[in-house]
Amino acid sequence: MSTREMIRIEKLNKSFGDLHVLKDIDMTVKESDVVVLIGASGSGKSTLLRCINFLEIKDNGKIMIQGEEIDPATHNLNDVRQNVGMVFQHFNLFPHKTVLENVIEAPVQVKKVTRNEAEEQAKVLLEKVGLEDKADEYPSRLSGGQKQRVAIARSLAMEPDIMLFDEPTSALDPELVGEVLATMKELANEGMTMVVVTHEMGFAREVADWVVYMHDGYIVETGKPIELFDHPKEERTKEFLSTIL
Ligand code: ADP
Ligand code: MG
Repeated sequence: MSTREMIRIEKLNKSFGDLHVLKDIDMTVKESDVVVLIGASGSGKSTLLRCINFLEIKDNGKIMIQGEEIDPATHNLNDVRQNVGMVFQHFNLFPHKTVLENVIEAPVQVKKVTRNEAEEQAKVLLEKVGLEDKADEYPSRLSGGQKQRVAIARSLAMEPDIMLFDEPTSALDPELVGEVLATMKELANEGMTMVVVTHEMGFAREVADWVVYMHDGYIVETGKPIELFDHPKEERTKEFLSTIL
């Protein structure tokens, strides 16, 4: 097992005005780890993910990506974001572009990959997410599960070393959840380093290396899935699990 640190967070704090949303967060994610973040709505899960790829800027604390402390004042945050892909609950595809055009957009515009090269790579990625036959469709013609798999392919097209997922299946009809989780599981099996906010406890049990329970801006408990789900140590964790399991 690799011990290379992909993400290291120390004493991270973030407020929105008077609202203290992240409180002294410490977290380490090693290469190929899959970390599942759980917790009630409003506990700070999305804000934590957004701080990791600098869509939100921390108030204080340290964020190291692959061993390097990222200082928003001096680092090119676009470079960091290229390396830390993010998939959202709502897929945010470009509606007027085809599936293929969605996937090649960032490599061509941001990475300056040639169009041919980007298309070749996009086809490989669409095959990987099981949508090679949808390359020329527009997003409106796809199911939610297919859209989310396109969003994953689009994120992968930037060749990130880390992938963040913020409730990627929460907006999907129940029968479409499985295909997206299967794609994520495959990515995990290939060794992608992933931080996933999800309410899918089956996925967490099966795929997560670590489960992190957040409450009110704090990390209350971290453990292997079996430990955390079956033998939670903290009262708060027990209470939370009793509401969802
Ligand atoms: P979760 O993802 O666990 O539901 P969030 O990180 O989205 O939690 O939100 C944590 C808290 O921060 C909530 O009270 C939310 O209303 C607040 N919040 C999140 N983003 C903003 C923002 N941009 N401005 C003000 N408050 C915010
Ligand atoms: Mg959220």
